Amino acid sequence: MNSRPVPRIALGWLMIVSFVGARAGDDAARAAPTRPGATATPAASAPAKVVAPAPAPATAHKTPPAPVLRFPNPEWVDIMVAAKRLGLKVGWKVSGREAVLTDMDTRLEVASDRIEVELDGQRVFLGQALVSRGGDLFITKIDLERCLLPLVRPAIIGRTKPRPKTIVIDPGHGGPDKGKINERLNLFEKTYTLDTSLRLKKILETRGWKVVLTRSDDRQLKPGKQEDLQRRAEIADEVNADVFVSIHFNAVADQVEKVSGLEVYRFSPQHQPPVTRALRRLDDEILNPGNANDPWNSMLAYTIQRRLLLELKLDDRGFKHDRLAVLRLVSCPAVLIEGGFLSNTAEARRIATAAYRQQLAEAIANGLTAYATQLEGLRLSAKPKGR
Ligand SMILES: [Zn+2]
Repeated sequence: MNSRPVPRIALGWLMIVSFVGARAGDDAARAAPTRPGATATPAASAPAKVVAPAPAPATAHKTPPAPVLRFPNPEWVDIMVAAKRLGLKVGWKVSGREAVLTDMDTRLEVASDRIEVELDGQRVFLGQALVSRGGDLFITKIDLERCLLPLVRPAIIGRTKPRPKTIVIDPGHGGPDKGKINERLNLFEKTYTLDTSLRLKKILETRGWKVVLTRSDDRQLKPGKQEDLQRRAEIADEVNADVFVSIHFNAVADQVEKVSGLEVYRFSPQHQPPVTRALRRLDDEILNPGNANDPWNSMLAYTIQRRLLLELKLDDRGFKHDRLAVLRLVSCPAVLIEGGFLSNTAEARRIATAAYRQQLAEAIANGLTAYATQLEGLRLSAKPKGR
């Protein structure tokens, strides 16, 4: 918190290109850029190739050229090797470009030039697109270790966490910060994040969890967006939370009636650009407190998204990651849930009903229960035999 900030202009110039595909409809307020240097120190062993671009030619506003990736490369894993780690068999749909990795109860579809993969029918957004070279398909080591392994073979993480007891629920926005607004229907995000959180609290308490809300009425925690978001994370640390769940609703500016559905976010791993940004910047190289829980963030986000899709039957917008200010400083596993689009008329009307918010709260609670059960299973299987 006392380290010197890195000048923003320098960060802007120091960028590298990554292979990123899809863009997400995003909440600019909650996705406020993290402040480099605020708490963390850049990793000494950052494998990233950060390059300063040459003096800008007249056309430099266009996408900078991609750096040449050379293989073999310690940051990338051949999909055959990755499949072995995942305990899955590789079947090629298109040789060297598209593969289906399977076992008895898992199906993972991957393709070159895509950050999106499909795991058991669910959309998962990696940090970097897979790359096809010389007839082989490669995935980044980070995506394998911090995303796919925790989802497919969580026992391989090698560390365990106790069954969570204390949950911090964070109703997004509040007070003068209304969050997303549907002007036509006069709906404010802050109203529904609070109501959903209160419902979730009730459900979790009847299941024996200790629950703390970051706010229980219509107010901002601190004047100033960054301070407000930071305060939410501090509360989680003060009560020694085992899980942090931030609740939001989404909106897009364009094609409002075409975009709908559910998203669950984890904090982006170190060295990876968020799903919402194509270019890798220097602040992506910073190790943030939220990164200590990368594998559990993945497990938690994926598990909750699974329950939401199963119970709410809305469009799957994906299990994603972003450099979200509210998740950056949390030192327990943390996720941000986007429970539907207020910009979409049909979905906004649905969000405005108590019945939907109750259903959403129950689905989140069931996701948290499933995560806790998963941790319990891992803990028991990690115990030495005979004890
Ligand atoms: Zn929001």
